[in-house]
Formats: sequence, C-alpha cells, structure tokens
Amino acid sequence: MRLSQAFLPVLKESPSDAQIVSHKLMLRAGLVRQTAAGIYAWLPLGLKVLRKIEQIVREEQDRAGAIEMLMPTIQSADLWRESGRYDAYGPEMLRIRDRHDREMLFGPTNEEMITAIFRDDVRSYRDLPRTLYHIQWKFRDEVRPRFGVMRGREFLMKDAYSFDLDEAGARQSYYTQLLAYLRTFQRMGIRAVPMKAASGPIGGDLSHEFIVLAPTGESEVFYDADYDAMDWSQTELRYGDAAGLHAMFERIGQTYAATDETHDEARWSQVPGERQRQGRGIEVGHIFYFGTKYSDAMGLRVSGPDGTMVTPHMGSYGVGVSRLVGAIIEASHDDSGIIWPEAVAPWSVGIVTMRGDDAASRQAAGDFYDKLTSLGVEALYDDRDERGGAKLAGMDVMGLPKQIIIGPRGLAQGLVELKDRRTGEKQELSIESALARLTA
Ligand code: ATP
Ligand code: MG
Repeated sequence: MRLSQAFLPVLKESPSDAQIVSHKLMLRAGLVRQTAAGIYAWLPLGLKVLRKIEQIVREEQDRAGAIEMLMPTIQSADLWRESGRYDAYGPEMLRIRDRHDREMLFGPTNEEMITAIFRDDVRSYRDLPRTLYHIQWKFRDEVRPRFGVMRGREFLMKDAYSFDLDEAGARQSYYTQLLAYLRTFQRMGIRAVPMKAASGPIGGDLSHEFIVLAPTGESEVFYDADYDAMDWSQTELRYGDAAGLHAMFERIGQTYAATDETHDEARWSQVPGERQRQGRGIEVGHIFYFGTKYSDAMGLRVSGPDGTMVTPHMGSYGVGVSRLVGAIIEASHDDSGIIWPEAVAPWSVGIVTMRGDDAASRQAAGDFYDKLTSLGVEALYDDRDERGGAKLAGMDVMGLPKQIIIGPRGLAQGLVELKDRRTGEKQELSIESALARLTA
C-alpha cells in the first residue's frame, strides 16, 4: 500500500477520552473510531489486524478438527425461552421487536442456537463427537463499556461448541480446545496463561481462562514462570493422542496459575519465590464444560450404540477476537507506539524516504516497494512529501515490525537502513541484502 493512496487517519494529539495505552494507540494510529458507546468502526489498519487474528484463530480451530459455520447475530426470544435464559440473562441482553411485534435479540452468545441446530439434525451417536465453531459479532449491553475494544458492547468472538456422548469424550474435546488455544495465542506472539477459572454451572476442573499479562488488566493473576518456557507448537503433541493430551492437562494442573477468584495461598507458597509471577491480566479466552445443561433443557438426545437414547455432553469455548487487538497492544508497545508481533502486523515492512523531494530516493523506494510486494511481502510505503522524522514517527506509532529508511547520502553508496521496531536496532545494508533479509 502506498500511503498517499491509503485511508490511514492518524491523530497528532493523544486522545484525552482514552484511559489506557492500547485504546489511545488504537485511536492515534487510526485502527478504530467509536460510533456509539462501546461500538466501533474498524478502519482499514485495524481491520487488517483483526483479520490476521481471526485467521490464526480459524486455522488453529481447523487444525484441531473443529468445523466452521456461521450463525446469525439476531436470534428469536423463543429459542432462549427453551433454555430458560431469556429471563435469566438480564439487562446485558439487547432485546428487539420486529415489525410483527415478535421478540428478538442480538445474540450475546450461541449455546441455544447451536443446541437447536444440532438437535434438529443429529439423530445418532455416529454423528458424535463434533465441535462446531463460528466467528461472529456479539452484543452485550455492558454496564460500563470501557477501554475501547477491550470491553465493547459489540465485539467479535470465536465461539466453539463440542458435543460428545459422555463425560470422558467431553474431556477429550476440552483438552483438544485447550491445546488449540495455547497454540493460537503462541502463534500471535503473546503469552496467554491458562488459569483455572471459578467453575461454571456444574463445578469440576474443566474451566480455564486464558490471561495475557498487562498492567491494565481487570483481574489480579498469579502464575508459575515455568509457563514462560512452555512451547506448544511441538509436533509430538498431537490431536487425537488421548494420553498425550491428558499428560498436557496434568502438567497444566500441576503448574500453578490462578486469578484472584481461584487463588490458593497454600499452593502458591509452594512455588519457589524466583518463579512466582504476579500481576494483572486480561482475559482473552474462556473455555468450559457444562455437561448436559443445554441438551437436557432443550431436548437434544441421540440414539446410543445399544439403542437407548443418550443426552450429549457439551462444552463451549470462546476467544475474544476483537479484544485481542487491544490486549496485544497492551502487552507489546513502547513510548513511541505499537510493536506488532510479526504474525499479526498489518504490514511487515514500512518504507520511508528521508527526503520525499529527492528523485533518486523516490525511485529507489518505489523499486524496493514493488520488489517486496511482488515477492509477497506486505509493505506500506510512505510516499508522501513530508518530513522524514514525521514519517518515521508514524511508522513507529503504527508498529510495523521492520522499517526501511532511504536517504540520499546512503543511497549514493547503494545503502539503505533496516530498522527493527522492537529493538530499535538499525543496520546499513545494500539494497540487495536488505531485500534478502526481508524475504528470507
Ligand atoms: P468478561 O469476564 O471479561 O466480562 P466473559 O467471561 O463475560 O468476559 P465470555 O462469555 O467468557 O466472556 O466470552 C468469551 C470471550 O469473549 C472472553 O474471554 C473475552 O475475551 C471476550 N469478551 C467478553 N466480553 C467482551 C466484551 N464486552 N468486549 C470484548 N470482548 C469480550
Ligand atoms: Mg469469561
């Protein structure tokens, strides 16, 4: 993308209505604009990041065997009366009437709808187990929408739902999603620690929240630094390997991590002091097993292997896709702006000419941009005739991981500068080796 043709509205001043750094930076760098309380328009830069995050979530769900579908945002109140949640949900639910005076709602989640779809189409144990997911906008009329997209009213969520014949099967589905989550967040370049959550409607050990450490997080968290060294990409850990997945779950159970809701001082005191990590955290995902709560209430039954009817066990698994944009910024920024992890960066490379009025610089930068683009590297070329310093600052605010800086003096010797956004390190390289670096 050439900046002169882009729609990248940046703010010169730091917005005063934003309380936390990610919200400030999302407004300054032009990722989102608020259109009503807790409701945001995604500008091109923000949308690019949102899509990258969404795609990583999708790929890891697919790898774990979950199947994508898409359910609507608007649901009927009658569906929610079947589970008894229409009245129970409270003022967070946005209730709507259509022209025929039928009661509708903007979905805050989809347990009822998926259970009804499954009930109407699945008859036999042979169709189990299945995990279905979709990535769809939700609406929750939060009392206090705040921190930008982190606690919005309209937000994008990946929600998956598992159906199994019995609790043992549901455990496997749970472990599978647990691993998919660990891999998803690792790929995004952030550390999200699985923490035992206050268990849901039916108790037990199958409820985890995934927490990204950041000083502005809403909950207090405690965890063993051993998590910092865990690598979930290892191929020996395979989906479908029941023993391997169980061992992974045990290891997580034995390595301390808890939010203030489940914190246990006695166990915490057994973690060696040098490994104790304590701070605040942001919930970016939440998974839980809830047994037959919805299948019972909504009459989902399938014929079992011996001919008797069986009530499937379910679990649900949410990722806050739009919240992640803010959470990643909270976890990865400095005084100059955002520092995108490569995997979610809107563009990997930013190209800047120090003298936009120098013909040779413009020529070299244009060529560099064309070559990178033709090699499949996503680049943003600031081709405007602005001060070099201002253009560099813009790249820093936007957080592009690598920057190519082209000035008349270096260019006279065939050299350009390659800057690493995270370390700030700069290197003078020939144009060819800079290209080679960026396409390696
Ligand atoms: P919270 O405790 O933060 O209110 P929750 O427990 O109500 O969240 P879940 O129902 O577990 O949320 O939803 C799954 C995920 O959706 C959460 O882990 C979070 O990342 C995201 N999420 C929930 N509410 C919001 C919101 N208001 N704005 C943005 N993301 C949200
Ligand atoms: Mg939750």
